Amino acid sequence: MAEKICVAVRVRPSISEESPSGTFWKIEDNRISLHKLHGTPISGLSYAFDHVFDESCSNSKVYELLTKDVIHAAVDGFNGTAFAYGQTSSGKTYTMNGSLNDPGIIHRAVNDVFQKIQMISDREFLIRVSYMEIYNEEINDLFAVENHKLPTHESLERGIFVAGLREEIVNNAEQVIKLLESGEVNRHFGETNMNARSSRSHTIFRMVIESKGIDTGSGDYSSSDAIRVSILNLVDLAGSERIAKTGAGGVRLKEGKYINKSLMVLGNVINKLSNGAKQRAHIPYRDSKLTRILQTALGGNAKTSIICTVAPEEVHVEETKGTLQFASRAK
Ligand code: ADP
Ligand code: MG
Repeated sequence: MAEKICVAVRVRPSISEESPSGTFWKIEDNRISLHKLHGTPISGLSYAFDHVFDESCSNSKVYELLTKDVIHAAVDGFNGTAFAYGQTSSGKTYTMNGSLNDPGIIHRAVNDVFQKIQMISDREFLIRVSYMEIYNEEINDLFAVENHKLPTHESLERGIFVAGLREEIVNNAEQVIKLLESGEVNRHFGETNMNARSSRSHTIFRMVIESKGIDTGSGDYSSSDAIRVSILNLVDLAGSERIAKTGAGGVRLKEGKYINKSLMVLGNVINKLSNGAKQRAHIPYRDSKLTRILQTALGGNAKTSIICTVAPEEVHVEETKGTLQFASRAK
């Protein structure tokens, strides 16, 4: 059976003062299409998704409509992953981290998880969090800078895991938010504005939600006592823009190659999952660190949502088309 992967597109508000001269993106319900300035749609450039959010849409609404189900399922024992995909400056980090007035998906998910488990009286929960970046196919720990170039391993007991990654046991949302803030500092360490490393790395915030039934004396203990463990990944991907053909040498070229490859592998994996690939063995998880780390929480009974962020400006039309094509393959 095909995985149900929820795919949405979000258009951020325009940042530039320039008004369009030839084309613009039009949103109608769950469809986005490129139109000529004075009227007609351009054929072949119209795409439908589970949701299309326009520039006035809040993080709160994105969370409610796209991600909440993934989070709730994770509390109930199902693995889940929510991605933000798009070119640099299209709104990935805004969507995941939010602003002061409108917290992002991660904050909302963390609050929601703790709120939800408080309402469940017949199970006890253990929540662990970790935060990592993948930069040039190397895994670094955002909770502990000294942990860099961490290897992935596989064991019967733990499945695929990142060896040496710091996992913090957490008891409330405030504690997680504090940890995330310290992680953000590490994420931007040594960054210059023009060549921001954070836009060239994938970051994965992970919650492992473990629960066990409590004997409430009601007699039906045996049905609820099983231990459940679910993994929830909230992922801010590296910018999907193609690197410029000229002038990108050395470090930039290397970064670009790794990003292009891992996003391509991710696209292939998700495409296969959404098409209901018959042989799980043929899903190319091993072709990139990103998909390898996410493997457990992408296949099987996992829930996945993808938000593809795009910029409305005309200069970005080609990148936006690329993002919409990625989004279309994921449906
Ligand atoms: P990315 O992470 O994809 O590189 P950012 O999230 O940093 O992009 O967004 C680029 C800029 O646009 C930031 O200044 C951000 O605050 C702003 N922005 C992005 N999306 C929105 C939105 N939906 N509403 C308001 N501002 C946004
Ligand atoms: Mg960003």
